[in-house]
Amino acid sequence: MLKKLLFAVLISMPFISSAQENKLPPIPMREHIVYYEKFYHIKAGLSKQQVINNAMQWFKEAFPTQPAAVLNKGEQPAVNGMGLFKVNTTAGNYYWLRFKVSMIPGDGVLTFRVYNVYEKPIEKGITNEFSKIEYRWWDYRNGKPWSADDKPLFNGLDSGVNALSVSLEKKIGKLQAPRFRALALYSTNVEADHVDFAYDAIKFYSKLAAEKGFVIDTTSNWEKLNDDNLKNYQLVIWLNEFPHNEAERRSFEKFMGNGGAWLGFHVSGYNDKDTHWPWFVDFMGGAVFYNNNWPPLPAKMIVDDNKHPVTKDLPKTYTAPINEWYGWKPNPRDNKDVKVLVTLATSNYPLGKKDVIRDGDIPVVWTNTKYKMLYMNMGHGDMNLTSALQNKMFVDAILWLGKK
Ligand code: ZN
Repeated sequence: MLKKLLFAVLISMPFISSAQENKLPPIPMREHIVYYEKFYHIKAGLSKQQVINNAMQWFKEAFPTQPAAVLNKGEQPAVNGMGLFKVNTTAGNYYWLRFKVSMIPGDGVLTFRVYNVYEKPIEKGITNEFSKIEYRWWDYRNGKPWSADDKPLFNGLDSGVNALSVSLEKKIGKLQAPRFRALALYSTNVEADHVDFAYDAIKFYSKLAAEKGFVIDTTSNWEKLNDDNLKNYQLVIWLNEFPHNEAERRSFEKFMGNGGAWLGFHVSGYNDKDTHWPWFVDFMGGAVFYNNNWPPLPAKMIVDDNKHPVTKDLPKTYTAPINEWYGWKPNPRDNKDVKVLVTLATSNYPLGKKDVIRDGDIPVVWTNTKYKMLYMNMGHGDMNLTSALQNKMFVDAILWLGKK
């Protein structure tokens, strides 16, 4: 028995050492073809759709020159595409490696596969076609390399696929359930300055959503303000308009009554004797539009509370960019449930030329604490999001409201 074992060790020694010398890259195979397969854990709470969206996104980033990946709509949805990368080998030579990429979301696991690998040498003065890498790999493994390029080529394949796998895993690691889902509504058939703000805000918040991991859907179709659709959201944003019909108003009231959150800008909070929506006046803390300045102007702000999550990043006073400012009567500050966070400084008065605000206590940002709501009077024109300082409040506001 011992003799047999010793013999086995002796004959296997030279084989091991020659394998080390060759530094054979650990290229995996299945059914005689080069076949990489890796599995990634998917975080709980993620839908298959989110995983697919992220896999598509990863593909676009990994292979920007390749046609976009497509979704196989079969029984088991999978993202499929043709990957491509370059491997540098000996001086002046390089190879294109082309291969099939497949990403299959399953229950809690994403399967990542790379197979059908083709290589195309680019050498001076020679035209080559793509050919199956297995021909070359087979000969190489049998000690018959085609050229000095073989080793760097196979090492390049292996390290390239591993790099892809690492970047995909990172993307999957970021696949967390969104912190919250927001629906932003706006109108395009309103004052041009209000449309400008809506587009600026959509751009601003979409970028923030990607950074902070929440979802913001945007629409100019106010019929989306219905019970069924609102079930998908924790936060509703009105960028430059408010609902005018009863069905939309009732759905919004219900949404807020059930603990939904609201962020309203500028004209979204506007209401006067013609609005005919008493619930909304109460929701706004009793505030009814009273006056405004014209033309729009920058103005000095007093920050009432520097500890509140919405205004914690603002100094005690600052100058807000150009906006049309609204005065209110009744003043929402008179409502015991209202917490005013930012106020128009009286040092601005008289404010305006055509329309002048001459006096009065004018809250600019406030919340009615009976609801998860925040009103910000900013939102007229294309300057509102140009202050890095004030933008911190735009960020803090949405994150505060989105907090579950
Ligand atoms: Zn306005």
